[in-house]
Amino acid sequence: MDTSSFNGLIQNAALLLALGIIYDSLGLQNLQSRYLRKVITGVLTGLLGITLMHSPWEMTPGVFFDTRWILISLSGLFFGFVPTLIAVVMTVTLRITQGGAGMIVGSLVIILPAIIGLVWRHVSRTYKIPYNWWRLYLLGLLVQVTVLCLMLLMPKDMRFDIIRALAPTLLGIFPIGTMLLGMILRRQYVRRKAEQEVLASRHKLNQERSLLRGLLDAIPDHIFVKDNDGRYLAANKAFQEFSQITEATILGKTDSELFNPRLSEANAHIEDRTLNSDKLQMGEIWSVNPDHEPRLFEALRAPYWDHNNSRQGLVGINHDITLKRQAEEQILTLSQAVEQSPVSVIITTMNGDIEYVNSHFEKTTGYSKREAIGRNPRFLKSGKTPEGRYQDLWKSIIEGKSWQGEFQNQTKDGDIFWERAHIAPVLDSNGRAHHLLAVKQDITRQKEQEEKILYQAHFDNLTDLPNRFLSLNRLEMTLKEGKRDNTKVAVLFLDLDDFKKVNDSYGHAVGDTLLVEAARRLQSCLRETDTVGRLGGDEFIIIINNLNSAAEVESIALNLLETFREPLLVEDREMLLTMSIGAALYPDDGDEPAELLRSADSAMYFSKEQGRNAFHFFTEEMNVGLKRRVQLEEHLHNALARDELHLLYQPVIDLANGHIVGAEALLRWNSRELGPIYPDEFIPIAEQTGLIVPIGHHVLVEALRTTQDWVEQFCADFHVAVNISPRQFRDSHLVEKIGNLLQCYKLPGSSLELEITEGVLMARNSGIERHLEGLNHLGVRISMDDFGTGYSSLSYLRNYPFDTLKIDRSFVEDITVDPSDLELVNATIDMAHGLGLTVIAEGVETEAQKKLLIKKGCEYAQGYLFSKPVSAEALQQLLEDQAKA
Ligand code: C2E
Ligand code: MG
Ligand code: MG
Repeated sequence: MDTSSFNGLIQNAALLLALGIIYDSLGLQNLQSRYLRKVITGVLTGLLGITLMHSPWEMTPGVFFDTRWILISLSGLFFGFVPTLIAVVMTVTLRITQGGAGMIVGSLVIILPAIIGLVWRHVSRTYKIPYNWWRLYLLGLLVQVTVLCLMLLMPKDMRFDIIRALAPTLLGIFPIGTMLLGMILRRQYVRRKAEQEVLASRHKLNQERSLLRGLLDAIPDHIFVKDNDGRYLAANKAFQEFSQITEATILGKTDSELFNPRLSEANAHIEDRTLNSDKLQMGEIWSVNPDHEPRLFEALRAPYWDHNNSRQGLVGINHDITLKRQAEEQILTLSQAVEQSPVSVIITTMNGDIEYVNSHFEKTTGYSKREAIGRNPRFLKSGKTPEGRYQDLWKSIIEGKSWQGEFQNQTKDGDIFWERAHIAPVLDSNGRAHHLLAVKQDITRQKEQEEKILYQAHFDNLTDLPNRFLSLNRLEMTLKEGKRDNTKVAVLFLDLDDFKKVNDSYGHAVGDTLLVEAARRLQSCLRETDTVGRLGGDEFIIIINNLNSAAEVESIALNLLETFREPLLVEDREMLLTMSIGAALYPDDGDEPAELLRSADSAMYFSKEQGRNAFHFFTEEMNVGLKRRVQLEEHLHNALARDELHLLYQPVIDLANGHIVGAEALLRWNSRELGPIYPDEFIPIAEQTGLIVPIGHHVLVEALRTTQDWVEQFCADFHVAVNISPRQFRDSHLVEKIGNLLQCYKLPGSSLELEITEGVLMARNSGIERHLEGLNHLGVRISMDDFGTGYSSLSYLRNYPFDTLKIDRSFVEDITVDPSDLELVNATIDMAHGLGLTVIAEGVETEAQKKLLIKKGCEYAQGYLFSKPVSAEALQQLLEDQAKA
């Protein structure tokens, strides 16, 4: 082989290597733009090709030779299409400009090796065939064979000479050169690739590191890493901000060097546990934020290891749970409040399945939480709550509204109880209902109370009969029915006879028992549909409906009277109780409840007047009596103010000498509208209306004022007798008032005598004895009036400090004709004397009566025989006459 061709080859190889080094040092691989990199590579390769073409060696005289196809084929193989194309264009252009006979072949030996290199590259890449030494050798061989073949295109005369001259070099050295150059380029390529990969992975590492750091710094939890000695290796931004120490300061330090002993101790506690156990540990740590506010952290510490499984230290995360804890505590407080609340609290799903009940629910219903949860509250249903109420409830709930109402539910033991429930949907933050909350209050006692009050408002609590209100209400209803059905209705007004006396004599307890028994008897005589009510006191009402005739009422009323004929047994005592009944009929006597009741009342009065224990239907005449009563009542109210009341005086005569020793003051009412009215008629009305109190006072004032003159003018012993009604005796200031009046008229107590009837004593007023004692103390005399008409109880005479006894007119009247009356008067006088009382006989009208009374030892008398009640002036005259005589 020719050494020049070898030198040329070496020279070419050196140039190729130089290109590789230049390429390397230019750092083209670092160029960002791929195209720029390719263009520059192509230009450099082209320049190299041109350089090679300018440094040929003369293989045989006239045949110059270079290694351009090795360069170009390797360019195709290693640099790809664009750089190879550029290099080919540049070198081919040069070759064409050089001209000459070998211009075509000179260009083809550039183009075809370039194509071979590119095709080889493509096939290797497609089939992933690596560029090893023998493949590079094969490439070189293929290129050289191609070049040799191309030499056939040279002029005929020299083509074989050239081939002969070139073949040994081309086939012997060039493939090896191609292989070696290729391997150098491959090495460079591999190294560059590796560098690129290192660069890329470093870039990626940096990226990942900053991502990780960004991530850690973005986390609001405090995150840090420590080595096995507790020295900080890293701390995130949140940690630095909270502790207000920069990472540079933190790094390499321990907790005790950075923080207060309490915090570092708390940290150490968890971290020691972590390192000792080599396991994740959790705990809670209190710390203080830059604003000096205490914060609670959930502390998590986890050990971490390197790839050799050797522990490197720990990772710590502190998560601020202050707000969460506050919320938890708030929820706990709330749930405890609900649990201990004095009302039942139930939480259900929207379907009504119970999820929670508090302990008050358990107490009220008797069902435990376990028994209630998961069930629908309908298990409490008693069946007593109207179904419509539940429908109403669900309607409100479905509309998203709350509902309030009452249920009658049932406990586990089957007891019925009342609940007032407030049921409302529980809404989430979007306003969607997800649960139902029921708050229920046990209102059983309240309901019982209400029922009781309702009952008391309508029923008399002594007899359990409808009271006045309900009775009148029923009357109204019954009348409506009567009007509708065209039937008669009867209203019976009943009043027990002399019940007041029973009450006064035996006490209220006996009276009450009698009323209860009377109510029972009344009920027993009537049909279920009839109503018996108590109007008050001893007054009852009976309403009878569906009547065909008045005769039916009469038989019922007579039956009632008959029933009462049977004595009542009270406290082992047999008592006879009668009653007076009056009846009014709808529609005959009226069609309004008040009207009918008034008419029945009049009829009842009439029965009383007719001697009691009787029944009468209402008649128009009765109304007259009733009207008169109402009229009197109306006018009596103004009588005092209109000065219509005045006193008459009836002298009291000493039977021994016929002298006037005193007088009884008797009240008269001379009404401007109604004319003169007698006390028998208006005194009971004044009693009932309470008007007797001011009227009685007026009588006392008037009587004492007049008496003052008579005492002064005629006789120091003169006394006036004033009638005092039971009602006046109830006035606790009675004695005081009388004392003041006596003082005012400068009269001794003995100039006044108070006449009281048994009624006063029977009222059993505890004040009576005190009054009587007080009066006694004043020197005022007390006389028992109308003796013989009432109970005429001896015990009263004995127990109370009476001075005088007045025998009633009705006894005196007949003493001359009726021996039994005479006997009675006789006995009364003896008895009075026996008790140390003086006796006044009332209503003495005849001399015969007078004589008899004198004979029987009666001291004083009053009566028409001596004088009718006369005016003060007339009595003054009588006293004057007497004084003169
Ligand atoms: P009284 O206290 O028994 O009064 C006697 C009544 O008998 C008087 O009737 C009197 O007019 C009447 N009288 C007297 N002598 C005779 C007689 O010989 N024959 C007949 N037939 N009657 C005679 P008066 O004035 O109508 O009084 C009736 C009752 O009214 C009194 O009965 C008394 O209880 C009461 N009364 C009168 N004035 C007052 C008064 O100022 N206050 C009170 N609380 N009651 C009074
Ligand atoms: Mg009298
Ligand atoms: Mg009398």
